[in-house]
Amino acid sequence: MEPEYIKLAKETEICKKCKNIVIGKGNLNAEIMFIGEAPGRNEDEQGLPFVGAAGKNLDNLLGKVGLSLNDVYIANILKCRPPENRNPLPEEIKKHTPWLIEQIKKIKPKAICSLGNYSTKFFLSDGDVDKMDKMPGITQVHGKVKMIEFHGLKIKLIPLFHPAAIIYNRNLVNLWEKDMEIVKAEIRQKTLV
Ligand code: URA
Repeated sequence: MEPEYIKLAKETEICKKCKNIVIGKGNLNAEIMFIGEAPGRNEDEQGLPFVGAAGKNLDNLLGKVGLSLNDVYIANILKCRPPENRNPLPEEIKKHTPWLIEQIKKIKPKAICSLGNYSTKFFLSDGDVDKMDKMPGITQVHGKVKMIEFHGLKIKLIPLFHPAAIIYNRNLVNLWEKDMEIVKAEIRQKTLV
């Protein structure tokens, strides 16, 4: 029998229209998860997250902090591509995040790097989608590490700019590199305990 969290995601229009459900990639025993927004065209075609241009930036980030796909697990808020890459709708977030929550409960990461506004606001609002609007945006909170309690797990939240944002805004590259130093320090400190 199909679990409820899968059924919920499959009920959404974006799921009926997508080519592939994009679940995640990486190591299921990882201590760090990177959570993006939603699959784009390439991800939809290949069934894997972050394989397009944003994915190249993410690989670059991982490399710079000495991590590989072996050390992390990468997933998204939405499991299916919204048409024309439009922003996720609250109803879609509500129906797709039970799957993400299931993944987080299995992996039990010590840290989550939330990529961009949607992912960051989801965790800052403790998964309460109706409160996401009231949460501060990524411009305010990027690089600011916060301990959160999420579904009974103590997790270090590290909000980062979305790797796609820096493709279109070169000014963000400096900020992005500074934030990477924070990720690096957090990993080195072994505060991931
Ligand atoms: N952007 C995301 O947020 N996730 C992906 O998987 C690809 C691009």
